[in-house]
Amino acid sequence: MRKIAFGYSTRCNVKCEHCVAADAVPDNLKMELPQAREIIAEMAAAHIQGISFTAGEPLIYLDEITELVKLCQEYGIYTRVVTNCFWAKTPALADKYIVQLKENGLSQLRMSFSRWHQKNITRQNIVNAAQSCRKNGLDYFISFVTDFSEQDDACEDYLREHGLRFFPEPVIFAGRAGSFDRQPILTDYQANCCPMNPYLAPSLDMYACCDAGSHFTSTNFFHLGNLEDSTVEQLLQKSETNSLYNHIRTMGITAIASFAGYKAREIIQYRKCELCEKMFNSPDMLAMLQLEAHSGLKSWYR
Ligand code: SF4
Ligand code: SF4
Repeated sequence: MRKIAFGYSTRCNVKCEHCVAADAVPDNLKMELPQAREIIAEMAAAHIQGISFTAGEPLIYLDEITELVKLCQEYGIYTRVVTNCFWAKTPALADKYIVQLKENGLSQLRMSFSRWHQKNITRQNIVNAAQSCRKNGLDYFISFVTDFSEQDDACEDYLREHGLRFFPEPVIFAGRAGSFDRQPILTDYQANCCPMNPYLAPSLDMYACCDAGSHFTSTNFFHLGNLEDSTVEQLLQKSETNSLYNHIRTMGITAIASFAGYKAREIIQYRKCELCEKMFNSPDMLAMLQLEAHSGLKSWYR
């Protein structure tokens, strides 16, 4: 199933300390609405079945996003909006946004919450938005961004106490969070496979990874191209047929790192995006892995 993260605008109304989008240049880039409509028509023709509106804060442009959501519904495309909930200051305001989005066909709301968001947006907004989703029959979940430190226990308790549906998401150490201290991680030796949904930026550049991968600027490993020069179909095919991307999807970052010579003891000390960056944002390592993609790496399967 083809899915994509759609960056309508990089603009945000707050400045979270951990924001991965913070080194987007410039930070107020925005598509024109007619252009976004054309791109969505092209995405529908390319059989994209899910669009997640993301980047900065999409609901700064509530009416434009609503129009794009409605268009997606006409094409039968599943839609999600990722938001910081700045708009849900009261239950009445939350209802205004949720009713408008729901009536125009939004499939799901994904709310971002963390101790860093909380410094800019009161956590009551998350409760107002979630309660409005329940009341108006809109599916939602909360993306609880955490560095897994004890400091986040209070945030997690708050979500549980209010009976909200949430999923912890590791903070990505890129953008403003690039300089954060890393907590040691205690986890299993796991595969770290990535589904790798593409991300379309407002500049019309498309990337094969919608998370930290768009920040690998030494190699531009995940940059697929720009819609000024290529069609949506061409860029998606590029993503789906690239051997190294497919190894990331099926073999996982951990096995690739082991193949590349990293010790198991070392591998478990990295978060997956950091390990990915070490390998694929290093021109020499990338050149080696590209050479091996069809030979040694291809046979490095269990
Ligand atoms: S993390 Fe989200 S809400 Fe915070 S500055 Fe970045 S885009 Fe805005
Ligand atoms: S591990 Fe690599 S491909 Fe997966 S989300 Fe992180 S940067 Fe993207």
